[in-house]
Amino acid sequence: MSHIVVIGAGITGVTTAYALARNGHAVTVVERQRYPAMETSFANGGQLSASNAEVWNHWSTLMKGIKWMLRRDAPLLMNPAPSWHKYSWLGEFAFNLRSYRSNTIETVRLAIAAREHLFSIAERENIDFDHVTRGILHIYWDRPSFEHAGRVNAMLAEGGLDRRPVTPDEIRAIEPTLHGQFHGGFFTPSDSTGDIHKFTTGLAAACRRLGVTFVLDATVKHVAHGDGIGVTCSVPDGAMLRDHQLSADAVVVCAGTASRNIAAMLGDRVNVYPVKGYSITVHLDSEESQRAAPWVSLLDDRAKIVTSRLGAGRFRVAGTAEFNGLNRDIRHDRIQPLVSWTRSLFPDVDANRVVSWAGLRPMMPNMLPRVGRGRRKGVFYNTGHGHLGWTLSAATAQTVAMAVDAELAGGT
Ligand SMILES: Cc1cc2nc3c(=O)[nH]c(=O)nc-3n(C[C@H](O)[C@H](O)[C@H](O)COP(=O)(O)OP(=O)(O)OC[C@H]3O[C@@H](n4cnc5c(N)ncnc54)[C@H](O)[C@@H]3O)c2cc1C
Repeated sequence: MSHIVVIGAGITGVTTAYALARNGHAVTVVERQRYPAMETSFANGGQLSASNAEVWNHWSTLMKGIKWMLRRDAPLLMNPAPSWHKYSWLGEFAFNLRSYRSNTIETVRLAIAAREHLFSIAERENIDFDHVTRGILHIYWDRPSFEHAGRVNAMLAEGGLDRRPVTPDEIRAIEPTLHGQFHGGFFTPSDSTGDIHKFTTGLAAACRRLGVTFVLDATVKHVAHGDGIGVTCSVPDGAMLRDHQLSADAVVVCAGTASRNIAAMLGDRVNVYPVKGYSITVHLDSEESQRAAPWVSLLDDRAKIVTSRLGAGRFRVAGTAEFNGLNRDIRHDRIQPLVSWTRSLFPDVDANRVVSWAGLRPMMPNMLPRVGRGRRKGVFYNTGHGHLGWTLSAATAQTVAMAVDAELAGGT
């Protein structure tokens, strides 16, 4: 039996551990937090959204970014302070404008494939994750953005997705709680939503049942490559820290925004940049609030906001992209637009008990996750899923597990 170390217990690490354990490997997951799913896989937008597969490498995104640079409440915000990582990443992002179409089609295909894996895992392991299967509705306030969405739709259709245009009247019929004068929308009945944290922790419990070991509170400091893989992590020992060594036949790096540094130790370049986003979870304490909040998941193209209903009692609203390095501060001026948006589009929802959160999307400049082998034997990656890690991970975990199997079986 081969021993595989997975670094990171977010959605990518836990789905990878599960796929490897089911393929018969001994698996150890090393995680710096005390529990799984405490970083970016904690309180995201909740959408399992093939319909949001459009990559951001489009000139209109760049133009909006420049226009919004000086507005503190804009959906996209960049700290202009000099940073080699940020500006070189943006340069690569711009270079990938030419792959916008092919990468969008590849992403939608991957998202459709991921659905079946995720749903069958949840059913097999009996994981309750507040899954809501009422589709995702994209809403547009003006003609130009609706027309752009029509062009995106042609790419999504090429990737195999059924997303149809809807009129303002149809929008009202699909989600009667929604207030606003929209130009039009696009509806994807096959998309769904769920709580990433509940799913990941439920799957971690299933992994333990399959024999996976979790080494928690353990920060990977060094990964050595020689005759096999050596992982050194630092673990608490009373009030002190001590080193803990693991040896393995292979390592899979699923460390979110830390993957870039770990890859560098292994001689690989994995150019993940932390793109910060925020969410609020509105607690729907009264029956009136529960009635006034939507069940259909929304994506408001103008505000760049997504929503999910997490059971009867919670409504998640998430969005914004901030380029500010490894900064996890929850800024009031970035949370307030999410609260105002909720009040304006759902005036009868009582937003008096709101939990704010910020997370860092591990984003590659071409917006495609890095999945597969590294330069050296026994080194693998499943990381860099950006704004779609919840949507894509169940498929990429299968891909990386197959790559591990192939190499350990003596293939290439
Ligand atoms: C506001 C917001 C909204 C979003 N909405 C959606 C959505 O609606 N749909 C969707 O599909 N995606 C969404 N995403 C993206 C999605 O949440 C992420 O892509 C996904 O959670 C990333 O998972 P991950 O496993 O790569 O990273 P993480 O969940 O961050 O996991 C990485 C883990 O590695 C651990 N780690 C790092 N370094 C070390 C080390 N040295 N030693 C040990 N452990 C280490 C970390 O502690 C962490 O637990 C959203 C993201 C944000 C921020």
